Amino acid sequence: MTSTAPYLLTPGPLTTSRTVKEAMLRDWGSRDGAFIAMNARIRDRLVRLVGGGDTFVAVPLQGSGTFAVEAMIGTLVPADGKLLVLVNGAYGQRMLRMARTIGLDVAAIETPEDRPVEPAALDRALAADPAVTHVAVVQCETTSGILNPIEAVAAVTAAHGRALLIDGMSAFGALPLDAGRTPFQAVAASANKCLEGVPGLAFVLVRRDALDAAAGNAHSLSLDLHDQWKGFEANGQWRFTPPTHALAAFDRALEEHEAEGGVEGRGARYRENARVLIDGLRAMGFRTLLPDHLQAPIIVTVRMPADPRFVFADFYDRLRERGFVIYPGKLTVSDSFRIGCIGRLGATEMRAALDAIRATLDEMGVATGAPAGEGNQE
Ligand SMILES: *Cc1c(COP(=O)(O)O)cnc(C)c1O
Repeated sequence: MTSTAPYLLTPGPLTTSRTVKEAMLRDWGSRDGAFIAMNARIRDRLVRLVGGGDTFVAVPLQGSGTFAVEAMIGTLVPADGKLLVLVNGAYGQRMLRMARTIGLDVAAIETPEDRPVEPAALDRALAADPAVTHVAVVQCETTSGILNPIEAVAAVTAAHGRALLIDGMSAFGALPLDAGRTPFQAVAASANKCLEGVPGLAFVLVRRDALDAAAGNAHSLSLDLHDQWKGFEANGQWRFTPPTHALAAFDRALEEHEAEGGVEGRGARYRENARVLIDGLRAMGFRTLLPDHLQAPIIVTVRMPADPRFVFADFYDRLRERGFVIYPGKLTVSDSFRIGCIGRLGATEMRAALDAIRATLDEMGVATGAPAGEGNQE
């Protein structure tokens, strides 16, 4: 793979291909016919990725992924609605905070960070609270790397006649989400996670009927998805200055995604990345936070080694010098760090990262990555 070091083993920004970067070597006028056609192509492709047919529309938005999630909540939940957020990590907490900031009526069901959200608890909560109009859930909680049972959550939400909003950020393009099988009203994601574009651009896929009904809901002008959508429908253009270079890179990234076999092909590469990484880490004594059946092939949370010679900041800097950037932990329950499996990286790069980790441990005089209470290799 022809990327330039450092490799970003992080959940975004992440490593992109040279060809995606090269797609940015040209300036675009926002009213240029070719640019308008590029936007239409991107929007069509995104809808196709969830099998959205004519039922869904894609609304791209300037900004990072958080902007799209906030636009989704602010536009689709009406002022007299109520949002129930399923929380098992920082991104669920962030949706809760957004809803409060917007001034919406909001409730949460919280689950520990190393446990999936619970469809049965959702079922009870919806039965008990008819005021809830929308449910929000994170598909892959990047805080821990856990995969949430999105299909069961969707089925329960639909059975109660409520609408489901998904933060699909760190899963979109690598883990399946099929509008025909999983009922949801909207999913928010960004260009710079599993779709391997560059940062600066996000999007929401929304049911057309729901977006149509959402005129005038939004708390904010720039985050008004309905208004943004109407702009595209009117003349194919962005309301405000588009992130032209990020869009050109995204167009190229979507082409490369399709060439790799779409969601299935991309997911297969990430699963292999995760497998190589987890096996290699365990062989050095490290322990993952999650058991394999809860682990999404996106980012792996590693429990902090017990050896006092292992100082994370030092480990991080030494790995960075060897060309690999990892990620600090974001857990509140346990001391940890994280290593991502997404971006333009394959098994070769994962093995090189493991070699760099091995060499770094040796340099630091750390014999094993085992956390406290785990002297034995399992
Ligand atoms: C990355 C991410 C986001 C958005 O983060 P930004 O930094 O705003 O791009 C939201 N939700 C999840 C689950 C994520 O992984």
